[in-house]
Order: sequence, then C-alpha cells, then structure tokens
Amino acid sequence: MKRLDISRLDVSSLLRYDACVRCGECTITCPTGGEAQDVELVTPRGKILRLREFIRMQYGIKARLFGPKVIADNDLRELSERAYECTICGQCKAVCPVGLDTIAMWENMREFLVANGLGPLPAHEPLVKSIENYDNPWMQPRTQRSRWSKRLGKEVSVGDSVNEAHDVLYFVGCTAAYDPNIRAMAEKTARVLAHAAVDFGTLGNDEGCCGSTMMRTGLSESAKGLVLGNIEKFERASPSVIVTSCAGCYKTLKQDYPKYGKLPAPVVHIAELVGDLIDSGKVSPSARVDKTVSFHDPCHLGRHVGLYAAPRRILESIPGVRLVEMDRNRENARCCGAGGGVKTAFPKLADDISGMRVADAEQVGCEVLTTSCPFCYQSLKSAIASRRSGLEMVDLMELLWRSLQVPR
Ligand code: SF4
Ligand code: SF4
Repeated sequence: MKRLDISRLDVSSLLRYDACVRCGECTITCPTGGEAQDVELVTPRGKILRLREFIRMQYGIKARLFGPKVIADNDLRELSERAYECTICGQCKAVCPVGLDTIAMWENMREFLVANGLGPLPAHEPLVKSIENYDNPWMQPRTQRSRWSKRLGKEVSVGDSVNEAHDVLYFVGCTAAYDPNIRAMAEKTARVLAHAAVDFGTLGNDEGCCGSTMMRTGLSESAKGLVLGNIEKFERASPSVIVTSCAGCYKTLKQDYPKYGKLPAPVVHIAELVGDLIDSGKVSPSARVDKTVSFHDPCHLGRHVGLYAAPRRILESIPGVRLVEMDRNRENARCCGAGGGVKTAFPKLADDISGMRVADAEQVGCEVLTTSCPFCYQSLKSAIASRRSGLEMVDLMELLWRSLQVPR
C-alpha cells in the first residue's frame, strides 16, 4: 500500500487533531456515534484519535526513524465508512470545551479521504454523477428547473433575473425546484415575496446546483466549476441581495462561496428577509393560526451560521401561534439525520435520528413541527409518517402564508 497522502489535510485541522483532549463531551450528543449507534469510531473523539494514529504511523518520529507502518486497507475503509456516517451537524463543535472547529475538520477529513481514493462512498456516486451531468442531484433535466413556478398562476409573477434587473435574486435550490413534495416551499416563498411587493427574480433554468452536496462529501475541488458558474450569473444579475429558502444553499453561498470568489451581493435566508419585512410593516400576518408550534433548527442555519432568532420572530408574529421550544433547541438542537450525505448512504441511520427528533417534538406537545430547510422537512415528514405521529409538518413560509390569506 502506498503512503497516505496528507497534503489535503490543512494545517489548522492537523493542529486541531493534536488539540483534542479526549474528554468525550462530544460523544454524548453526537447523533450518529453517541445516540444512534454507540460505536466509538463514529464519535468525534473516535475519528480524531484514529486519524491521528494513522498519521503518526506514517509520519511520526518512529516512522521517520524506522520507516512508515503499513495501515491495513480494512482499517482505512472502516475510517472512511465511519467518517461518512457523520451528518456534519456541528453538535460536537457546540459542546467541545477546547473550541475545536470540528465542522471544518470533518469536511477536511473527507477531502483527505477523497484524495486517497477512500471517498465518497459508492452510494454517493449517482448524486455526484447527476450533478455533473444535469446540474442537480436528482437526475432531472435542466429545462424543468423552473417548472415549480407554473403553479403560481397569474397573480404571482416571478421575474427573470437572467435578462432583467431585479432587486432581489431568489436562489431556489435543486430540492425545492425539482422535488414535487417540496415545491410548495419555493411556491410559498414566491407568494410571500410577491405579497410584500418585493421586486424579485430567479435564474430560472440557468440556476445551477449550489454545490453543497459535492462540498459535504469531500469533493470541494470538483464543485469549483459549479460555484464559479453561479457567481458569474449572480454578477450578471447584479441584485442588491441574494435570498435562499434552503438552509443548505444558504450556508454554502454565505460561507463557502467566498472561498472561491467574490459575490456581488450579501446572502440572506428567507427568514431574515421576511423578518425585516414584518418589522417594516410590509408583511402583516393577520389570519389566526391556532396551533401549538415547535421550530426545528436546521444545522446549516443554526450551528453552522448562527441564525436562530429570525424564524422565531416570524412565528411570534403569527396570531394564534403558541411557540413551544423542544428541550434541545438552538445550538443544542438535535440534527434531523439527513445531512452530510447520510440519508443517501445510510438511510436506516438517518431514519433512526429523524425519529428521535420527532419524539422530541411529541414530548413538548406541539401540533405543528416547522422548519426552514427542504432536507429537514423531508426527513422529519417521513419520520412523522413512519411513527404514525399526529404531528403536522409544515414549512415556515407555508405557515406564514396561512396567516397572510385574509378573506377579502
Ligand atoms: S469534546 Fe473536543 S476535546 Fe473533547 S473529545 Fe470531543 S473533540 Fe476532543
Ligand atoms: S458533526 Fe454531528 S454527527 Fe458529525 S461527529 Fe459531530 S456531532 Fe457527530
């Protein structure tokens, strides 16, 4: 076996591997290692110690004096498999007393695995091929990307930001654009924006995948073309703000795109934009929605970017809504189980985790579970169905829209 190539491990991650004090705080709330499986190698600490051991075996002082030790292929494959069982939810980062940026570590660990031919997993390949061939992970034709907007009818016009100037560019994202079960998220977002008379447009069929799936599975190099293509279209559209309704697109455009190039406008999530519209009186929820509601913080919105207040601000503005927090909320919110490619490669594990999240909501007695991410929505909705739970899963914009439809 050839020596491990550690050139893809960035220096800050290497330092973080050595900074781990093995306290195990991160193993308690890790959804994949601690709660769902109880396998040490899946826990943050387990992965850190194993990779550190491998690096020492081949690059440590003994390796330099006596030659590198061979690492068994099975051990490498096991590390890879376990590393991809992580949802990259960031819970370990939130609890680590040393303050290790484990999100950066796991993403970098996957880049390292890819560089050594150990990732992504075979189960991820159809997604990756689909993005390469169709610009979306769902094997759907490019010409169908804007089909969701046909459901809006004549009363809502979605501007064409490719050919016209619009103040706001709505980046729809692949899942809301293509998945028939999630299209309502894009539709209600457009309806709310139109209701507030926001001048907005989309890139229509020219929008490309944001690249999140590639980045989260360790293929950040391969995502470069997608990212630069989107940035070029953003520049041509020249909006004053770019808005997303998907938490994954939001994190990717906001935190990852600046590593590839400069964006022409700030990126905001729809919850932030609508929160501002409520504050300025341009959106005034008035119809009662008499429901007890809990908000599930998507990891990409919460722990990754720190956006907690805006969705709650919207819920508090809806007459009749009683907001109840789950025991684990904000930076301690339990992950839905779908992120980091886990739903694709380990569907049973993802379902176990989403089932635990639905149980969290049931425990506080809410009637409606809401969120602001298509992946969380999808996985929680399917967990509600498989548990035969009485909960109703509703996207945040859809819930708001119910309160904006005042009979005239
Ligand atoms: S909480 Fe931080 S320091 Fe403690 S074992 Fe986990 S990664 Fe290491
Ligand atoms: S990011 Fe989440 S799933 Fe991954 S190791 Fe940390 S706590 Fe576990």
